[in-house]
Formats: sequence, C-alpha cells, structure tokens
Amino acid sequence: MSLQPIKDTWRAIKLIPFAVVLYDAKNHTFKANTQAQRLFKLPSKPSLKNDDFAQLLFSCPENKKQLTLNQLFEKYLAINTNYHVFLQIHEMGLLLNSKVAHISEHHHIATFEVIEHSDDAKYNFDKIISKISTDLIDIQNDNIDTHIEYALKAIGTVCLADRSYLFKFSDDGKSMRNTHEWVNQGIQPFKDQLQHIPKNSLPYFANLMGTTHLFKVNDVASLPAKAAKEKQELVRQGIQSVLCIGLRYDKELVGFIGCDCVKQQREWTDLDLIRLKLVGEIIANAFKNLNYKQELQHIQQQLITANQKLNQLVNTDSLTTIANRRCFDKALESEIKRCARVKQLVSLIMCDIDFFKNYNDSYGHQQGDEALVKVAAALKSRCRRESDLAARYGGEEFAIILPATNAQDCERFTNLIQQAIKAANIKHNSSTVSEYLTLSIGFFTAVPNKNSTPQSFINKADQALYKAKETGRNKVCQYK
Ligand code: GH3
Ligand code: MG
Ligand code: MG
Repeated sequence: MSLQPIKDTWRAIKLIPFAVVLYDAKNHTFKANTQAQRLFKLPSKPSLKNDDFAQLLFSCPENKKQLTLNQLFEKYLAINTNYHVFLQIHEMGLLLNSKVAHISEHHHIATFEVIEHSDDAKYNFDKIISKISTDLIDIQNDNIDTHIEYALKAIGTVCLADRSYLFKFSDDGKSMRNTHEWVNQGIQPFKDQLQHIPKNSLPYFANLMGTTHLFKVNDVASLPAKAAKEKQELVRQGIQSVLCIGLRYDKELVGFIGCDCVKQQREWTDLDLIRLKLVGEIIANAFKNLNYKQELQHIQQQLITANQKLNQLVNTDSLTTIANRRCFDKALESEIKRCARVKQLVSLIMCDIDFFKNYNDSYGHQQGDEALVKVAAALKSRCRRESDLAARYGGEEFAIILPATNAQDCERFTNLIQQAIKAANIKHNSSTVSEYLTLSIGFFTAVPNKNSTPQSFINKADQALYKAKETGRNKVCQYK
C-alpha cells in the first residue's frame, strides 16, 4: 500500500469512537487518534515516535508482564494474526479490551476500548483475588471448603450472579456432582439436588465442556433445540443466564466453575469470563497442591512406618523376638549414665541355661531353639515395668536390666524368674540338677558413678553367674 491510501485509511480509522494507534513498522512511527492522545496523554502530533510512548506500560492480566506499545505490536504481530487481548495500565487504573490487526504489509493498528476506568470494582476484585490466592496457596484439608466458599461468593458477587458453584467430575468421567455452592440472598440453593448427575443427561453441555471448556448462555430461553435437556434443567432451576468454565488438573478436565443469574438475564462480558477462569484456576491449583501435600504426607507416613519396622528389626532378636544384644548394649549404657546422673540404683541380671549343650544333644537343635523361645518369653513376661529390659545376650544367655531396683528386690525378681521357668515345664532329661530345664543366675546391683561402664557391670554380674554355676547351678548368686 502506498502512502496516499494509508493516509485515506487513517482518516477513516481515526473516526472510530475509541482509542486507535496506527503503527508503521517500516519507519517505526505511530499515529494516534484524538481518543488515544487523550487516553494515553500523548502529544497531539501527526506522527509519534517510540519515545512518546516510553512512559506507557501495558500489562497482561494473565501473566503480569509489562510491555511498551512497540513491544505489544512486535509481540502480537510475530504470530502474524489479528489479536485480541486484555491489557491493564496500572498507573492510569485502566483495563482495556485491545485488538491488534494488520492492515497492510507495514501498517498495523491497535484499538483500545476502556472496560474499567480506575473504579473500585477492579481494585476490589484485585484485592479479592490476592486474598483468595494467598488463602489457598498453603491450604490444609481442614479449611479448604471455607476458602472455596469465600472464593465462590466473591466471584458470584463480582459477576453480578445469583449463584456460583463448583462441580467435580467422577473419576470415570461419567457423572458430575456439585461440591460447593454460594447463593445470593433469597436464591434457592440446588447443591443437594445436584449430586451424581450423569453427564449423558446433559449431552449438549458435556460436549461443549469437553471441547471448548466453556458454556456461556446469556439467555436460556434462546438455547437451540439440540440443547433441549439443558434448557429443561436450567428452566427448572429458574436460571436465565449461565456461565461455566472447565477446570483442569494436569491438563485433564476435572470439573467446572460456574455462575447463574436467576433474578434477571445477564450479558456475560469478557471480563466475567476472565475473572471466573482466574478464580477457577486458583481453586484447581489449590486442589492440586493439596493433593501433592497429601501424597507427600502419605509417603512420609510410609517412611516413618518403614523406619519403625527397621528400628524394631535391628533391635530385636529374630529367634526369640525379645531385645537383641545391640539393643541391650545401648540400653545398658544409657541406663548406667542416667542412674549415675540421678544417683539411682540399677540391677543387672545375667542368666545362662544349665546343661544346654546336653539339651541340644538329647532333643535336637530345633527343639533347643524352641526352648530358647520359651525361656525368653518367660523372662519377658516378668518384666512388668516399662524401663525393665530382657534381652538375649548371646547363645543361651540372657540379660535383664532393672533400673531403680535394689539388691533385695532384684533377688526377689530372680526368684520369680526361676518360678516362671519352672512353670514353663521344659523337660530336660540330661540335666543333673533337675528333670526340667533350669537357669543359673548372677546379678549385680549398684549406684553407678561417672566412671562406671557397661562392661564393669557385665563383668560383675557374670562373675556372680559363674559362682552360681560353680556352686551347683539352678540358683541365684549376687556379686558382692
Ligand atoms: P552350662 O551352661 O550349664 O555350664 O552348660 P551348657 O551346656 O549350657 O554350656 P554352655 O553354656 O557353654 O553351652 C551353650 C550351648 O548352647 C552350646 C550351644 O549348642 C547351645 N546354643 C547356643 N546358641 C544356641 C541356639 O541359638 N540354639 C540352640 N538350639 N542352641 C544354642
Ligand atoms: Mg553359656
Ligand atoms: Mg549353659
């Protein structure tokens, strides 16, 4: 297009009743009509340069990126198509509905229609959005419903609707249910009636939702014949206008957010759409975060359980299921330290089965194992206090730690052990001290001091045990 036709075109274009800017991409110059000059506070010159627009920063509500007018043209012309976008100019409190189109090889125009001009609604909505997103960003399961209800009330109010709601699709995608609902004063709620709705009962709606993720009806009465089922349902609920937008979770459509107008019809604006979509996305993200969090908690719980099992495993003797040597060593060390600190008595008992080699020889190793299990159970059953610990010290030797127990009580305890072993009735025909399996027991009781070691306690209890063996077996000796 040569210069003259562009001049003629501009003469016509500049009469458009809202702001228009013409961009000459070859010479990097601009023309602005009177509305644009007024709106953007531009100098009233026939040709403008980039510098004249330097102060003018547009931001896209979707991504909040800021662009100069030049960048706006470059960006949208790069995709080489007519473009429609909402823009904000924060400093001027403007929300603009803008279209960019090219009219010749090097000439492009942008039109700017003012949707909101620094009015309270926009700022209120910004505030609402920031509150909703802050509330939902670190959501816990127990309060998500309250926040979603607040978000629905906010979007319902801002879109001048009478009802707003959230629907979730079932896992198999065949039905939907109303999970959250807000209704304006005097408006009938429908949530309870809208559970388990088969999608195929509303085929026109389901099809639109599945393809465009949008169901926008300004006038329910004028729905087409193929939407007869939808119309019947909407009329039943007294709805005049309805707007629903799909909610996606990892690209999959999981439900929708919507608004109804009952008292009067509403011509849904692009802004209603943007706002409803934004709130829907915030809610979908909150669910996503919550899901991640729950998955994480579940995994953490599994990890804790696995750790507990592992801990139990490394501290338990696999044959007898009582504490193993490792557990005993740790417990003895910490008890000695603790009792040294609080100047308390601690008793250590060592037991060894009498003639157990003979037992194995007579009854076989497997029955020997079974006898060990019975002995361990008998010892453990006598340990009634939480701090008492019976452990398999090794082979057929067992050890018992009794914190805060004096020698007299310890001796009484050892007698109870012998009774328990006797009560276990384990026949032992190759023992010379009894026809039943018996234990020799040695113990040591003392208040440990800071120089006491587990080994010193074990040695002394062991010496007492040796004495019990030496002096006849099936008896208790104390280290003195
Ligand atoms: P005493 O203690 O009365 O002097 O005679 P003892 O025959 O019991 O002698 P000692 O304590 O030295 O023998 C230990 C025996 O215990 C030897 C071994 O065969 C047996 N033993 C050790 N660990 C196990 C085990 O896990 N299972 C079985 N069945 N036997 C074991
Ligand atoms: Mg032994
Ligand atoms: Mg023995």
